[in-house]
Amino acid sequence: MAVYGVLLPLVFDDVFDYSFDGELNIGQMVLVSFGKEELVGVIYKIGKTAKIDDKKIKPIKMVFDLPPISDELFSFIEKVAQYNLAPKGMVLKMVLGQTSNQLPKQKVQLYSLKIKNENLDGIRISSGRKAVFDFFNDRTEAEKDVILKETGVSENVLNAMIKSGFLDKREILVNEEAIEQIVNLSNKVELTDEQEKAAQNLVVKVDNGFSATLLDGITGSGKTEVYFEAVARALELSKQVLVLVPEISLTTQWLKRFEKRFGVIPLIWHSEVPLKEKAKTWKAIINGKAKVVVGARSSLFLPYSNLGIIVVDESHDHSFKQESLVNYQGRDMAVLRAHLERIPIVLSTATPDLETIVNVEEGKYDIVKLRKRFAKAVLPEIKIIDIKKDKPEKGTWGVSFITPTLVDELKNNLKKGEQSMLFLNRRGYAPLMICRDCGHRIQCPHCTAWLAEHRISGELICHHCGFRMFTPKRCPDCASEDGLTACGPGVERIAEEVKNRFPDARVEILSSDITTNYKEISNVIKKTQDREVDILIGTQILAKGHNFPDLTLVGVIDADLGLMGSDLRSSEQTFQLLSQVAGRAGRGEKKGLVYLQTLYPDNLVLDAVIKHDRDSFVDIEKNARLLLKMPPYGKLAAIIVSSTNCEAAETTAYMLGKCAPRMENIMTLGPAPAQLHLLRGRYRYRLLLKTAKNVNIQEVLKKWLSMVKVKSNVRIDVDINPYSFM
Ligand code: ADP
Ligand code: ZN
Ligand code: ZN
Repeated sequence: MAVYGVLLPLVFDDVFDYSFDGELNIGQMVLVSFGKEELVGVIYKIGKTAKIDDKKIKPIKMVFDLPPISDELFSFIEKVAQYNLAPKGMVLKMVLGQTSNQLPKQKVQLYSLKIKNENLDGIRISSGRKAVFDFFNDRTEAEKDVILKETGVSENVLNAMIKSGFLDKREILVNEEAIEQIVNLSNKVELTDEQEKAAQNLVVKVDNGFSATLLDGITGSGKTEVYFEAVARALELSKQVLVLVPEISLTTQWLKRFEKRFGVIPLIWHSEVPLKEKAKTWKAIINGKAKVVVGARSSLFLPYSNLGIIVVDESHDHSFKQESLVNYQGRDMAVLRAHLERIPIVLSTATPDLETIVNVEEGKYDIVKLRKRFAKAVLPEIKIIDIKKDKPEKGTWGVSFITPTLVDELKNNLKKGEQSMLFLNRRGYAPLMICRDCGHRIQCPHCTAWLAEHRISGELICHHCGFRMFTPKRCPDCASEDGLTACGPGVERIAEEVKNRFPDARVEILSSDITTNYKEISNVIKKTQDREVDILIGTQILAKGHNFPDLTLVGVIDADLGLMGSDLRSSEQTFQLLSQVAGRAGRGEKKGLVYLQTLYPDNLVLDAVIKHDRDSFVDIEKNARLLLKMPPYGKLAAIIVSSTNCEAAETTAYMLGKCAPRMENIMTLGPAPAQLHLLRGRYRYRLLLKTAKNVNIQEVLKKWLSMVKVKSNVRIDVDINPYSFM
C-alpha cells in the first residue's frame, strides 16, 4: 500500500494522508472519507507526510477518471494562497467549483443478455426479440436508448424480455457530459481603422506567451468587438477562452453578441447557475470540450485544460474583488494565472483604476487605446444641476427628488419620443425608516445598519446580511400608528415620483434586488431595447456594458453618493461610476445629454466627469495617494477580527494591537471597532497595516499573526489591498 498526501477543499494548508493499492500521480483527483463526509481531493504529495500509525491511514475510496490538475494550476493554487494568506484547501475548493462536480450523477440503465443467442435454437421468438438478441451478438452490455434506437423495438419489448428472464437490467451512475462547443470564426465584423489596429495588436499577442494589456477605450468605442478578434485567434489555435465579467453585466445582450460572432453560446459560470449545469460545465472545462467560458470572478479558478487567453471586461469593476472566504482581487489573480499559464490577458475598460494605470506607466502592462466612439456616436454633453438652487418641488405624492430642470428635460425627451434613464445607486424605496413621533430608527438585528424600506415587496431589508421582515404598521418603539416615515430616496421612490409626474410614460425599474435573476434583468433590458420603455430607473446595474442606441437623456439623482465616503477609492469609484453611467447616453446617432444633480457643484471629481477629462482626475488622485503613500504607491492590508462574542473579538484585537510590528517603512492602525461593528451577528474589530512598496507585506502579516493565540470562537480574516474599510 502506497501512502499519498491529499489536499482537501477545507480550511487547511496541510495535506492528509491516505493509502492506495496502486500507483497514483500528483494532481489526480480522488474520493476520500473525512470525518463523516466524503470529499473530493487532489493528490498533492507522494509518500507519508504526517507521523501517524500506518494502521490509522484510511484508504482512498475512488480515483476519478479525469485529467490531473496541471502544474500551472498547482502553482496558481499555491501562489493565490500565499499572496492572500488563505489556506491552500480553500483555493482548491474554488478550483473544484463544487465538490459534487466530479461525482457521477446521471443514472443510466444498462441491459445485458442472460441467455446466449445460440441457446435459443428451437425456441420461437418474435421478430422484435430476435432483433434484440442479434443486437447483443457482438456486445455484452448496452444502454437502453442505444438498444431502442438500433433495433427499432419499443420499450415494452425490453420490459417483457426482462420479465421472461432473457434480459438483465442494472442501473449505474455516470458523469453527465457537456457537448463539445464548436465555434464558427467566419463572422468577423468589419472594424474601423482604429479598431482594426487595436485588434491586430492584441491578436499578435495570442501567439506570444504571457502579456498583460490594458484595452483602454472610451465608452462605446467598440472594445468588445476589438477583443473578440484576440478571442478568435485563440479559438483558431484550438485554445480555450475565458472572459471574466462583472456578474451583473452578464446578460443576454452580451451573450447574443458573442453568439453572433462565434456561432456558439459561451458556457456560463456564476453563483446563480444551477448546480447541475455547473457540474456539466466543470467537466467540459477540464476535458477540453469547453472552448469559451464567460463568468464572474470565481470562474478564474476552474481547471481549464488548455487556456489560451483571459479577457477581463470592465476590469475596473469592484465586483472582481471578493470579500468572503478567500479575500482576493480577481483581476490581479487573473494576471497571475495568465503569467503562470504563459498566455495573454486583456483588461478592457473605459475607466481604468489607478493600480492598472501605474502598471502601464511602469511598463508592466502594455496599452492599446481607442479614442473614438463607433460610427456617428459622440460623447454626451454633461451638465451639473445645483440642487440648492434648483430645488425639487413637492407634489401630491409628497417629497420630490428630481429638480425642475431635469423634470423639464424628461418632459422634452418624452415629447420627442426618445428614451431617458435615471440613475440612483440605492435599492428599494428608502434607505431608512424613522419614527416622526419618537425618533426611533429601525435597525437590523444582526448588523450595525439601518433596514431599507422596499415598498414593492412590503418589506424592510438589510442590505448587508439580507435580513428581511414585513414593514411594521406601528413604530416598534412607541407604537405610534402613523409615525413611521420613509427617509431619503431609493429607486422605487424615484419611480413613484416619475409615474406621478408622467402618468403616460412607460416606466421600468432595474435594480439588483427585484431583479436578482438574470431572466428578469434581461427582460427589462430587452424591453428597453425594443423601445417599450420610456424611462428606465435603476441602480449601478445600469452603469455596466448595456447598449441602448435610442437612449439620449441620463439623469443622475444623487451624484454625491459615494463622493463623501472616506474610503481610499471613493473618489475613483465615483468618477468611474458617473463616467460609465454618462457613457450610456448617446450611443446611437443622436447626441446624448447627461445631468448630474449635486449639492457640491464645484467638486473636482464632478468637474473632471463633465469635461470627460480622465487625465486630470487621474492626476488629482495620483497626487493624493502619493502623498499618503497609499496603493499603488504603498501596500495595505486589513486584519478583521470577529466573533459572535464581542469581548472575545475585542480581546484578540487588542492583543494583536499590542504586538503590532514596529519597523521602518511599516505603520499599523487600530484596533478599532469596525464601522459595521456588528455584521451577520458577528462583532468586528479592524486593524490596518500599511507598508512601503518594497516590503513583503505577507511575511510581516504572517509573523504578526503567529504571535497571538486565537480562541476557537474568534475568526481572523486578512484582506490584502482592501477595497472595503467598513
Ligand atoms: P464599449 O465596450 O467600448 O463601450 P461596444 O463594444 O459595446 O463598446 O460597442 C458599442 C456599440 O457599437 C455596440 O452596439 C457595437 O455593436 C457597436 N460597434 C462597435 N464597433 C463596431 C463595428 N466595427 N461594427 C459594427 N458595430 C460596432
Ligand atoms: Zn416611534
Ligand atoms: Zn443585517
